[in-house]
Amino acid sequence: MIAKTRKIHDAMETVGALQAIRYVDPEFIYLAVTNARCATADVFVKPGDHVDCCQVVGMRHGPFFEQPIHSTVSGTFVGIEKHYHRNGKLVDYLKIENDKKETYAKEVKQRTPEEIAKLTKQDMTAIIKNCAVVGLGGSSFPTYIKFQTDKPIHTILVNGIECEPFINADHRLLMEYPYRLLDGIKYVMQAFNCKHAKICIKSKYKDIKEVYDQVLKEKAYENSGIELCLVGNYYPQGWEVEMIKNAEGIQLAPGELPANRGIINFNVSTIVGIYKAIKYNMPVIKRFITISGDGIKSPKNFRVRCGTSIKELIPQCGGYTDEETEKVFILGGPMMGASVPSDDVIITKTVTSILVLNKRNYQEEPCVRCGSCVLSCPVHLEPVQIMNAVKALDKERIKKLNPLRCIECGLCTYSCTSKIQVTDYVRRAKLFAKM
Ligand code: SF4
Ligand code: SF4
Repeated sequence: MIAKTRKIHDAMETVGALQAIRYVDPEFIYLAVTNARCATADVFVKPGDHVDCCQVVGMRHGPFFEQPIHSTVSGTFVGIEKHYHRNGKLVDYLKIENDKKETYAKEVKQRTPEEIAKLTKQDMTAIIKNCAVVGLGGSSFPTYIKFQTDKPIHTILVNGIECEPFINADHRLLMEYPYRLLDGIKYVMQAFNCKHAKICIKSKYKDIKEVYDQVLKEKAYENSGIELCLVGNYYPQGWEVEMIKNAEGIQLAPGELPANRGIINFNVSTIVGIYKAIKYNMPVIKRFITISGDGIKSPKNFRVRCGTSIKELIPQCGGYTDEETEKVFILGGPMMGASVPSDDVIITKTVTSILVLNKRNYQEEPCVRCGSCVLSCPVHLEPVQIMNAVKALDKERIKKLNPLRCIECGLCTYSCTSKIQVTDYVRRAKLFAKM
């Protein structure tokens, strides 16, 4: 059967709107020394040192930028321990014992509305850089680099679409923090001297619409130029190209930056991160995450302190279902997330969700050339041909098939009649194409 698949059951259909539990005082927090974008780092503390919340305890070095490591609690630096990172590898983490006093570093201070009104784009860029704000929807791209565009921007698009199954942490944030979000958007509009902003959500999110219809009528926001924009209920509507097409009627060319068309886009969590940085000079120390999937008894959203071990949150979800069955852990959603070997994983500021699934042994069958993967691909690739080229190790053919345009949405695997992990072949093709 040929299937064009865009209708993926999202979180509302799989787990419903989850309330959030506060879990903000773990005994220890763990901060990754390096990450996917920064291969080396310097550590500024030694065992026994007292640290304050938001204090810079190290500096990561990327290929063209530096990223401060901020403590997310006050307490005592214990030493370095290895835990799994979202890339599935064991990496070094700074372990800090939480004294639960939450004393803040002296750099954290509230700016007055008058002080904020005077900030230029350059000022805000420097603040966001020092506070290490990155794409909190999972991209981890340094936000200050987005701020450095010199293109004129006419519209800010704020992505609250969240279209993968099982995840609704952004939904929770939208519901709980409308004022932080709206003030954050106003700061970004000020930076870019931009008069319009749209908060993009799925059109079926009636509860969010109700909240923002009310709040946007308040005096502080009624003439702000911020509006709610209802977009499609399909996957991958949250992909920036698809969001821009529906919100603005603009079709970006492959690889084209939204700023070329006067648009800049941020995830809702990133906007709240920007709000905290501008208003309080504070890095991201807490975030919403979803723990979900059929391997967990009671799926939940959490407001957690970054650096918390996922292991600590599993009992808060009632533990695992069917202890006998092996579990699969995925950081991110089932479509685009990455699997990790165990629950010994730390929540960094870019972890949006943890999916715990009971392992099933799917028997892969031979390709029946049904064409479902080709029909489903949102960037019009031919995943089956890419797979065949990878199997044949035909590098020339792989390059001609353009695998680098793949956005790793997972639809080719999802739609495959023969249960083949087609996306994995396309990922391998991307590696070949870069050689
Ligand atoms: S994972 Fe890549 S190749 Fe597969 S459908 Fe998505 S964009 Fe296309
Ligand atoms: S790889 Fe799967 S979806 Fe694609 S043509 Fe073959 S059987 Fe169909």
